[in-house]
Amino acid sequence: MPDDKYEKIWNDVWQHITADNIGADQINAFFTRLHPQAFSEGFLMLTADTDFIKKWVETNYLVVIKEALEDLYHKPFTVAIEVDDSQPNRSSSTSQPIPSLNREAQNTSPNIYTEEEAKTPKQETEEAKEKVTSFVSDYTFENFVVGPSNQLAYSMSVMVAENPGQKEFNPLFIYGKSGLGKTHLLRAIQNYVDSTFPHINTVFVDTMELVNDYSEAGITKNFNSFNQRYQNADMVFIDDVQYLQGKEGSINIVFQLLNSMKESGRQMVLSADRAPKHIDIDERSKTRFNSGGTCDIQPPETETKLGIIKKFINELREKNGFQLEIDPSVQNYIAQNSSSNIRELKSAITKIFLYGSTMEQNSVSIEEVSQILKDHFSGGSMKKLTVADIQKAVEHYFNISHADLVGKKRSADIAHARQVGIYLCRTMIDIPFESIGKEFNRNHATVMYSVTQIDQKQRESRELNEELEIIRQMIMEQ
Ligand code: ADP
Ligand code: MG
Repeated sequence: MPDDKYEKIWNDVWQHITADNIGADQINAFFTRLHPQAFSEGFLMLTADTDFIKKWVETNYLVVIKEALEDLYHKPFTVAIEVDDSQPNRSSSTSQPIPSLNREAQNTSPNIYTEEEAKTPKQETEEAKEKVTSFVSDYTFENFVVGPSNQLAYSMSVMVAENPGQKEFNPLFIYGKSGLGKTHLLRAIQNYVDSTFPHINTVFVDTMELVNDYSEAGITKNFNSFNQRYQNADMVFIDDVQYLQGKEGSINIVFQLLNSMKESGRQMVLSADRAPKHIDIDERSKTRFNSGGTCDIQPPETETKLGIIKKFINELREKNGFQLEIDPSVQNYIAQNSSSNIRELKSAITKIFLYGSTMEQNSVSIEEVSQILKDHFSGGSMKKLTVADIQKAVEHYFNISHADLVGKKRSADIAHARQVGIYLCRTMIDIPFESIGKEFNRNHATVMYSVTQIDQKQRESRELNEELEIIRQMIMEQ
């Protein structure tokens, strides 16, 4: 969650730029949709509501933002922008009516366009569009960590990438909560197709951008370039189609495009934060969206998060030359205590690296990490857990009393609950075996034995894995 302190810094930057009078309207329209996440000497990290906004700002305003920071702080700055679409109420796309293709209707209600027009004069849209489409991303299949939570979406994406246009996967519709990897998979398909089948013309568009393009075509009454862009494509990716809600004209266009693409064996790939049936659009479009391969991405398991953490640490070290070592026990702690939003997880790791380089440290402790990430996760994770928190959830889950959990009984179910409790204490909070032992009235050897037992069993038993996942969830939510 952004600090007030960061908001203040960001406001100063903003003031500084508008004081120079560089397109004040545009600045206001875009900067309200950027939020400061981290700030240190020479570094500012912002989040943007959508990929479109991120690219737009990077293309048009990064230089002025850096200049303003340099003016204010008298040193050069690196500015990073990450996408965070987890807060839909920040987006301006929710309530603006876009009229249908009926051009007369558009003529009679020119005011409808005023706001969009102010944000996106034509010339700049063209420029940004070029940047957006030529954007080569790190979002590849190789960089995607696969686990049970995203296995199906991953396999279907690979299938579509290798064999675009198959009826049963057209459209491919991937849905899941924000930050779980939808855009990554869409881009991975596109990257794969672009490099494997260069003759296939792919077009990737954020729904906000499509709505924008469409509204602009309405203003200029010229739908040629709009049509050309989409109709000539062999493969169209539309990201975050939940933003079509309330945009009748754009819904129609997408519906027609999808029909003609299906008919001619061209592939469409869609993503949304919810299943087609929960998107508030007309029934025929919902049915159409759901007529190919529909699959979801679930929140990642701790194991998958750990894989992502390791991969991202390597990336940061290789690409950015960071020196920090993050010990496996600390990585484990982050995986166990972070929210399921992978975007938040990645920016958490970035924060830790920034901390390491600011403090000129080569390693970080669990205490430091828990301090750095205290308010980081929007779900409020990363609180300071105690043995009592864990015991309470375990007792509740297995429906046993505290006296039994820490007492002498050895029946199978109580012994199992006890082992699980000990294991969770060891993996979720970093305290020595002795201290855990004290809380369970057990000696050091028994604690060690319990941890190894559960650790081994959970590798083989999906059931136990799920059980642990549920209890962890209960611990974090109680
Ligand atoms: P969404 O579009 O669902 O909101 P993104 O695709 O933008 O989420 O993913 C958010 C961030 O998390 C991106 O940086 C992405 O690379 C990363 N990410 C998500 N899932 C994975 C994964 N399985 N492996 C590696 N990185 C991932
Ligand atoms: Mg996305």
